[in-house]
Amino acid sequence: MLKNRRENLITRMIQLSSEGQDCQNCPGTCCTFQSNSMMSTPLETSEILIWLHSTQQKTESLKEKIQNTISQYRLDQLTGYGRRSFLRRTYTCPFFNHKELGCPLPPEKKPYGCLAFNAHHKVEKAGEFCFSETEELIRREEDNQAWEASINEKLKLKHKLWWDKLPMPVALIEMWNMDLSNEDLL
Ligand code: SF4
Ligand code: SF4
Repeated sequence: MLKNRRENLITRMIQLSSEGQDCQNCPGTCCTFQSNSMMSTPLETSEILIWLHSTQQKTESLKEKIQNTISQYRLDQLTGYGRRSFLRRTYTCPFFNHKELGCPLPPEKKPYGCLAFNAHHKVEKAGEFCFSETEELIRREEDNQAWEASINEKLKLKHKLWWDKLPMPVALIEMWNMDLSNEDLL
């Protein structure tokens, strides 16, 4: 179950790539403040944090970088409408390496929205012909909805989380010190 939840998104990405519609020669526009506003659920956030921990990349310097991203792009500001919800703001992703193919996260750990955003042109590769595979996202969601909802509820209960989705850097800091394990995601 763990590795299959992104299968259709990865298959689609590989298919486009085999046709030359990939991210080679692109500076990574979709990972920067120009168009990135990725949000993350407790489940997606846990997967990233567990992977960072297991690969010795969950460091204080990364935490500082994530916190700086939150400050710089004011990602932790509430809407002000009396509800605990956040404005969807764009930001340069703290994981982005500022180079071609600049995401260090493996496909099986990336947020679904990142995986579904693909190039659709063999030559122009700086965002002009890139868009989200909405149909694939919906198919993925339909195939996993019930199971994921129960895992997210379990994580919310166990870690006393009040949110369903947050800007990814805010979600990472909210869950940074929590005791997370793959068993929680089964
Ligand atoms: S997680 Fe990776 S693909 Fe997604 S915005 Fe960040 S650097 Fe880009
Ligand atoms: S999806 Fe588009 S904008 Fe994002 S890295 Fe690939 S080619 Fe560049």
